[in-house]
This record gives sequence, C-alpha cells and structure tokens, in this order.
Amino acid sequence: MQHPSWCDRTECTATGLPGGGLHWSPRAVLDPDPRTDISATVRIGQGTPVPGHPGSGPTLVDLTVHMPALDPTDTDADYLILMEGERAVLLGEMLVAAGRVAGRSGNPVAGPANLDSREAV
Ligand SMILES: [Zn+2]
Repeated sequence: MQHPSWCDRTECTATGLPGGGLHWSPRAVLDPDPRTDISATVRIGQGTPVPGHPGSGPTLVDLTVHMPALDPTDTDADYLILMEGERAVLLGEMLVAAGRVAGRSGNPVAGPANLDSREAV
C-alpha cells in the first residue's frame, strides 16, 4: 500500500482496501488558551478511493476544537469539522483577517464593533 508523503504511520488507519481507514498527517496543535483552556488541532486525512465512486478518497482537512468541561457536572467535548482544502483556505483567510483586526484594536476582548477593518490603526 502506498502512503502519501505527509502520512504519519503512527496515526494511519488505512487498510489499503477500498473505503478502509484513512491516512493521517501529524497534528498541528494550538495550545490551550490561558483564559478559556480551549485548544484545537489541525491535520490532513485521506481515505482510500472506492472503485466506481469518483468522489471517494478526497484529501480533507480535519479541524478539531477541544472544549474543556465548564464545571464538575459537565464533560469535555471535541468538535470535529472535515472540509476540503479550498474551504480550509477560506476559513484560514477569514481567521487571519479577523485576528489582525482584533489584534490591532488593543482590546484583548474585541467585540464585533472592532471587526470593521476601516477603523484607524
Ligand atoms: Zn498512511
């Protein structure tokens, strides 16, 4: 079985059989936010194509956000979003644009009013 160059063999679950398992890249990790303890990981996954199904086996981006329990009655939760590469690029551009505006506002808790990029620097 061929593995993509980015495949992390310790994470790979691909079986080589049609529709069996996924190749996974190593995870990029966003450490927990000191104020909220929310963290995130990003990795690439690819399933094995199924013969006769041209849309099978695409390379996808997995964004997983880890939300810690808020109190003892709560439980940790992981929210996973799988998206194709183009959508991941669009989401990344949106985050960069919003992050730059929020970062220059000088307000660590920037609200929607601070997202207008036409405001003076
Ligand atoms: Zn693999």
